[in-house]
Order: sequence, then structure tokens, then C-alpha cells
Amino acid sequence: MGLAERSLGYDTRFGRGFISGVFAVVLAALGLGGVLCLRYPSWLTTPDARALYPLDLVRFLIHVHLVAGFGLGVLSVLLSRRAPLGLSGIGLVVVALLLGGSQASIGTLGGTRALGLDWFLLNVLVLAMLFVPLERLFARLPAQGIFRPGWLTDLAHFAVSHLLVQVTVLLTLMPAALFFRWAVHPAAQAAVASQPVLLQFVEIVIVADLAEYAVHRLFHAVPWLWRFHAVHHSSQAMDWLASSRIHLVDAVVTRALAFVPLYVLGFSPGPVYAYLVFVSFHAIFVHANVRFRFRALERLVGTPKFHHWHHATSPVDKNFAIHLPVIDRMFGTYWMPPDFPATYGIAGDPVPRRYLAQLVWPFSRRL
Ligand SMILES: [Zn+2]
Ligand SMILES: [Zn+2]
Repeated sequence: MGLAERSLGYDTRFGRGFISGVFAVVLAALGLGGVLCLRYPSWLTTPDARALYPLDLVRFLIHVHLVAGFGLGVLSVLLSRRAPLGLSGIGLVVVALLLGGSQASIGTLGGTRALGLDWFLLNVLVLAMLFVPLERLFARLPAQGIFRPGWLTDLAHFAVSHLLVQVTVLLTLMPAALFFRWAVHPAAQAAVASQPVLLQFVEIVIVADLAEYAVHRLFHAVPWLWRFHAVHHSSQAMDWLASSRIHLVDAVVTRALAFVPLYVLGFSPGPVYAYLVFVSFHAIFVHANVRFRFRALERLVGTPKFHHWHHATSPVDKNFAIHLPVIDRMFGTYWMPPDFPATYGIAGDPVPRRYLAQLVWPFSRRL
């Protein structure tokens, strides 16, 4: 049983007010988050993105979320004997309305000490709209619901990594420029950047995945690094949200090291941005609870089954690549039986279940 279900004493079956209650809270929180972004943009929005938002659409989406959150909150209270979820949803909507609702005036701009609340809200919205229906329609494990055990922990990982986006991006990009400027060769960079963008994109996928493979294996092989990476492997249920269970140290170090060869080789920004969008979707997709079979393609491209075996309780240390299984075949770590694994996670289940405990666990002396 998951934390949410256990701590709230809810009956999680359909028609008992749990599902509508959770949706009420999630939608109301998204709406309130949107209102807060309008009111306090210099604290809560990403400076580079502010100019790009279509405000009318943003206000309309906030409106829809608040109305739906309120309606589902009322439904949940009516259906459920215990009402904290529904009431929380309604409470969040009331707070949002007191702050001005979807028509809240825009606060003063300026300052750079921002949390990426806008980035978090945007990603929750887009990814949930994409992956929740996909996993409902093509579920590998249909009995595994959206609110499976551990989903709140994963949502906390998702929220924090997106709220801190400005810090983590800086920490990801800085080491390459600080420590590897010596390796840059202007003429070689010019040659790389002058190639067709599609070719550059393919090269980036190969280079980044080779680097990712090496760093990933290191995280599995070196005990003090494994503590950080073990958090990612502690998931016992695989779905799109499980992909975000990554310790901040793991996320920053892996991305920073994978970025080094891209920086040194000097690919042009367009293909690099295209790759960043691609990798963020692909890395989530390979965790998803979907039963797609890719047949011949499975040997070439990282698929959910390929990465699910990386998360299997046994055997361990297989399928380190994200995009290109051929790298694992080259280095003898490829593992691809006909079916999905039966169980996920680490034998003995050493990692704590709550977010904050997971954050400090790798630093603990008792290990
Ligand atoms: Zn791993
Ligand atoms: Zn994974």
C-alpha cells in the first residue's frame, strides 16, 4: 500500500472519493501554482521563459484547473466518508481565488533568485496528459494504477528537480566550461558545427549515450556512487513518474559528465537543444508502464522492455545505455529475454521510502 493511501486511511477503489479527491488536490494545486506564478513571477518563474508564455491561454488553463479542482473536490466530499482530500482541493481553490484566481494581476518582474514553479507546472501538465492516457490504454500491468505505492515520493523528486531547474542546469553546464576549456580546439569545433543539423543530432545521440553509459556503469560499480544511484533503482513499480526518482547528486553529476564531450566537440545549439528535448522524453518513455513490442527495432533503440530489465531485481548491472542497446552489446552488458522482468527494485530493499530520507540516505555514516 502506498504512503498516501496508508496515511489517509482511504478506500482507494473507484467510486469511494479517493480518485476524485486526488485529482481535486492535483488540479487545484496546479491552478494555485499558476496563480502564484502570475502574482510572484520574479520569484517563481524562469526568466528565459517569461516572454514566451501566451498569457490568455495560461489564464484560461488556470481557470479550467480551478473549476475542475473545485468540482472534483465537491464530488470527493460527497462520495467519501473521510473528506480530507476533497476539502484540501476546495481549500486550495479558495486560496487561489483569494489571490485573484485566473485574473490575478501580474506582479513586478526582475530578480534572478527564481524557483522554476512555471517549469514544474508546465512539465506536470504536458507529461501527465501524454503518459497517463498512454499507460491507461497500453498498460503492461493494468492493475497498477496511477497512484501506485511510492508515487508521492516520485512526485516530490519531480517537483524538486523542476523547481531547482536553474541551479541544476547551471551545475550541469559549468563543470565542462570550467575544467575542459583546455580541450577545446576552435577549428575542430567549427568543423563539427558546420555539419548538417540532422547528422549532428545523430552524432550527439551516439556521443552522449557513450558518455552516459560510462558514467552510469561507474555509478553502479563504485560503492559510494552507487548509494546515490540506488535511489533510482529503489522503485518497485515502473511507470513514467518513476523516471524522476533520481538523487540530485546523481542527476547533476551524470548530466554534467555526459555534457563534457558535447561541449568539447562544439556541436551547434540547435541540435543540442533538440537532443535535450528528445532525451527528456525518451528517458521518461523507457520507464513507462506500457506493453509495446518493437520487434526488430528493439535491438537498435532503447525501449521500455530494455530499460525495465535495467531495473530488474535480478539479474543486475545490465542495459546501461539509454538510447542505443548496441553499446551494451559491445561491452557485454546486454540483456533482453522475451518478456518483461517479474520484479523491480534492489534485493533487500535498502533505500528508505520517503523523499527527504532518500535525499540524506547516501550521506549516512551507517552504510
Ligand atoms: Zn542504473
Ligand atoms: Zn531508470
